[in-house]
Amino acid sequence: MFLKINQRKYHVTDLVVRIACIALVIYWIMPWRFASHYEYLHRNEIQQALVEQVTTNISMQRMPPCEYSDIFADNVITYRSQYREHVLRGEEILPGGEYFPEDCSARFSTAIIVPYRKREEQLHAFLIYMHNYLRQQRIHYRIFLVEQYDQKPFNRAKLFNIGSVIAAELEFPCLILHDVDLLPMNLGQLYACTQKPRHMCSALDIFRFTLPYRGLFGGVVAIRTHQYRFINGMSNLYEGWGGEDDDLFNRLYSHKIDICRFEPSYSTYTMMRHKPEKKNEARLELLRTGYKRFLTDGLNSLIYSEKERRLHSLFTHILVET
Ligand code: UDP
Ligand code: MN
Repeated sequence: MFLKINQRKYHVTDLVVRIACIALVIYWIMPWRFASHYEYLHRNEIQQALVEQVTTNISMQRMPPCEYSDIFADNVITYRSQYREHVLRGEEILPGGEYFPEDCSARFSTAIIVPYRKREEQLHAFLIYMHNYLRQQRIHYRIFLVEQYDQKPFNRAKLFNIGSVIAAELEFPCLILHDVDLLPMNLGQLYACTQKPRHMCSALDIFRFTLPYRGLFGGVVAIRTHQYRFINGMSNLYEGWGGEDDDLFNRLYSHKIDICRFEPSYSTYTMMRHKPEKKNEARLELLRTGYKRFLTDGLNSLIYSEKERRLHSLFTHILVET
């Protein structure tokens, strides 16, 4: 088929290819033109948005409370693509991958929950990098690796539910739901909860540091433990890649819980590259009808069996059958 423009004939496919090329060039030069613009907390609003809350053992400490203002003021870039492992001084980290500063009393206790199966290289890099990064933040944290033991399709949301139950038993008031392949690049993204659940990785390098859509609520998110319980956690039904993070966003929305983000220069992350996982063909249908199941599918319908719990030097390993 041909189109006639200014007395010249163009083949339609030829035109489409040209337009696509021009769009690609524009995207390459100016990625922000295609990005979603979003509201965020400016650097001077960040600290007051955080919720100070710790586990009992930390609250019994007699040290002066830790100071955080320099962390926000400097927002140091911590990521170096060439970073070396020897920066790790593991002796300060307690078995199970727990840490708190010794010279001051942390004001935040955070459980970092990582859903996991067969990503050994990424896990290794993640643990080394994160312990170095997090100890500079002067918070109390512990890393929980929830590994899916069975051969069923990977169920990321269910692993988060399991991790949240264990973290709540250990009294952690704040959960950070964290992909194993994402690394924060600036120190100002404090691993603590804000009053509103927070999407932390809104400036991700694979999206050229822009946000593809405003409802994106995956990768790394912080949510207060009681809020996670209030929305009945995440759905247990998403098997394979995709949809479960959008479902989480819908759950918050339906409970009238707003989300927040820090300004982009505090939200920079890099993703370790990997092959795409097999998509869940049912995800769109699940997502469309999800609202019918918010009250019945989640923490209150969670069934799993714990095969093993082990305190490794850099993380707490929870092996589960989903
Ligand atoms: N994941 C895993 N093993 C798998 C699939 C997923 O450990 O086989 C975990 C891992 O923490 C990963 C997260 O689930 O970072 C999200 O999956 P993926 O990285 O494939 O999602 P994408 O980057 O495509 O959003
Ligand atoms: Mn990934």
